[in-house]
Amino acid sequence: LSKGLQELRDLPAQTPDGHRVRLLANSGLFADINAARDSGAEGVGLYRSEMHFFLRDRFPGEDEQTATYARVLASMAPRPVTLRTLDVGGDKPLPYFPIQEENPFLGWRGIRILLDQPDIFKTQLRAMLRAGAETKADNLSILFPMITVLAELEESIELLRLAHAELVEDGLPVSFPRVGVMIEVPSAAYQVSLLASRVDFVSIGSNDLTQYLLAVDRNNDRVAKLYDHLNPAVLGVIEWIVRRAHQAARPVSVCGEMAGDPASALLLMGMGVDSLSMSLGNLLKVKWMVRSIPLAMARELLAEALTMESGVAIRARLHEVLEAHG
Ligand code: PEP
Ligand code: MG
Repeated sequence: LSKGLQELRDLPAQTPDGHRVRLLANSGLFADINAARDSGAEGVGLYRSEMHFFLRDRFPGEDEQTATYARVLASMAPRPVTLRTLDVGGDKPLPYFPIQEENPFLGWRGIRILLDQPDIFKTQLRAMLRAGAETKADNLSILFPMITVLAELEESIELLRLAHAELVEDGLPVSFPRVGVMIEVPSAAYQVSLLASRVDFVSIGSNDLTQYLLAVDRNNDRVAKLYDHLNPAVLGVIEWIVRRAHQAARPVSVCGEMAGDPASALLLMGMGVDSLSMSLGNLLKVKWMVRSIPLAMARELLAEALTMESGVAIRARLHEVLEAHG
């Protein structure tokens, strides 16, 4: 089977009835970027910038960050790369930036920290923009994580504009990047039309969205059986997000683990999700699914799944279909 999958590497991610889905890689370490480039990924849909910060013993400065991001952009060019701003806190504390909280997943995390620490935030945004200018490939997108209310997105974009204006004033040839919002908090899902109207694209973080919709810690084994991205409520909310983002004429990607699971990727395809960004190890399996299942069938299965009563039943039905296709 794995030899068969290897042969898929250079074939397009296209359904038998001619629908294209963009398959992108998640990454955070430079080693993954080269692997992503060689694996048939059409770009990097999620670069978790915090990985670079975890490997240091202090906040990396602007020049150091610029060099890191420029290497990522250059090695993927001309393919697109989405750099996500720092998403620490929650289960991902930085050793040199300790946070003590009773409920870290509901606490100071992601964009909340950045907006409270605008120096750290602006340094990172300047580094991303400078990296984009150095690469000269116009392949940079910037993505904001953990947005809960519109004001956070507006403030983030304002700071990006400020960083951009400063660099232009310094005479650097920086273009303004594509900007995206992560939808991974239930309130953001509800307000997706409004949030989408402020940005170029929407990226669904199904890991956190599942955790917050189901009130289940994504890392707690005791409640792991409740943590299911095929839970009918999760599917229903994701379908709601995709429909509204498309009404606002914004492309949608999914960058949580769900995108790399062929069964759930099938349903995402049925919803019309434009790109799926996943761990590299899942890319060929998902491509096999895309090339095996017609879009029309994915839509029918989605309609059927949305009437079903449990994630267990939905998964069983999807596996039946995937097995029938090899
Ligand atoms: C997510 O929440 O789905 C996501 C992609 O971000 P992370 O896993 O880094 O929180
Ligand atoms: Mg997340």
